[in-house]
Amino acid sequence: MTIRLYNTLTKRTEPFVPLDGKAVRIYSCGPTVYNFAHLGNLRAFLFTDILQRVLRVVGGYNVRWVMNITDVDDKTILGSALCSQTWLPEMGGQTSDANANLRLFTDYYSKAFFDDLAAIGIQKSDFVAIPRATDYIAEMQDLIRRIFDAGFAYISEGSIYFNLNEWRKHAKYGRLFTIDAENFQQGVRIDADEYDRESVSDFVLWKARKDGEPYWDFDINGVSLPGRPGWHIECSAMGQSLLGLPFDIHTGGVDLRFPHHEDEIAQSMAGYGCETSNFWCHNEFLEVEGRKMSKRFGNFFTLRDLMNRGLEALDIRFAMMSAQYNSVLNFTFFGIESAAKARRRVQEFIYDLHEPPTAESNTVVNTEELQEQLYSALADNLHTPKALERLFAFMNENRPINIAASSRNALLGVFGKMNDIFAVWEIKPRPSREIPEKVKILAERRWQAKKERNFAEADALRAEITLAGYAMKDGKDSYTLENI
Ligand SMILES: [Zn+2]
Repeated sequence: MTIRLYNTLTKRTEPFVPLDGKAVRIYSCGPTVYNFAHLGNLRAFLFTDILQRVLRVVGGYNVRWVMNITDVDDKTILGSALCSQTWLPEMGGQTSDANANLRLFTDYYSKAFFDDLAAIGIQKSDFVAIPRATDYIAEMQDLIRRIFDAGFAYISEGSIYFNLNEWRKHAKYGRLFTIDAENFQQGVRIDADEYDRESVSDFVLWKARKDGEPYWDFDINGVSLPGRPGWHIECSAMGQSLLGLPFDIHTGGVDLRFPHHEDEIAQSMAGYGCETSNFWCHNEFLEVEGRKMSKRFGNFFTLRDLMNRGLEALDIRFAMMSAQYNSVLNFTFFGIESAAKARRRVQEFIYDLHEPPTAESNTVVNTEELQEQLYSALADNLHTPKALERLFAFMNENRPINIAASSRNALLGVFGKMNDIFAVWEIKPRPSREIPEKVKILAERRWQAKKERNFAEADALRAEITLAGYAMKDGKDSYTLENI
């Protein structure tokens, strides 16, 4: 089935076809590992996870997914600095070597990041490569040299800058994001990794060494420039090294369109002489309780914060799929409760489909049509809410017990395909709840005590049964035991 995706580069929703006709090469801007991942970060990775799953399951493509780890930038350097308050004992003791400290600091948050990703259903093995920026310094230096030799970079006070004015004579700057002409500031240099569109000017490719900060040696045309890479050059070099240019899809949050992705396009075109990516796909922001997530509003949450409140990571994954990736998602505590209930409802339906059919099980389901409808919703720019709406409509119209034995396997196959994308259910029979012998004896004793109207004894035994994790429900002539 043809998958259609909104392409920020062309500002249109277009049919997707891999450039080499076979494998889909995806590059995702990964985390900057200086802190624990918050909900906004996770939405970006969940979006790409859904994208790559839809491409595999609905499109039938092989996917080569690369996500980088930004382990050198302004934030990670600040966090790993000597005497930094963000240094935790778990990271090990700081040394006098700033490069080693940076590695220890970012190792800690990389591990935490992958633990969080695993909790929401994304495994390291889903990627073909997870490059760390500091392992690709030589490739970044090679690209900077190419840009320099092509005449689009210059050296100033030990740093190297991209010459935007020169570049704009050759190509458009502002392909993903509209930039007003008056915002271009000639001859101004920006050293920060992030900047706003009010002052678009020469951005840094390589930053001069600062005392006490990590650095790498760099010799460019006989000039020694010890320092470290700017943030934007990292993704350009890693994407080219691991996937080749142009690759099929570049992903990231909308906030990365400018300057990060705009700079990536300019650098790769200036240095490698080709486009970066055929499609650029960006996920929208996430709000919490109707407002931009911010520590100031008290609505800033990491995944760990929410799990500490007793929420399940897979309910969070499912809740995020209630909105299409390119619309603003309002994450609320009420919404996550509804998502948890909806997720369990699907799970119960799957369990019930495994139960033996009865005399009433005679509804034959057109499973091919159902799958087609679900797939076409997902193929429509990853419209997860539309697919879920169809799934729930089907569940509202059908009770598992009524479904004919002949339709059940095919229907479980459809739920299995949905789970290959949503990844929040288990496609298997309801786990058996074997009641321990001890609990059965307690229940029998309590039933006798009740019959003998010895209510104090019966109540004491009920408390013991509850403590063991079971609920005893009395009927007229018998009782049942259930898991709590
Ligand atoms: Zn990036």
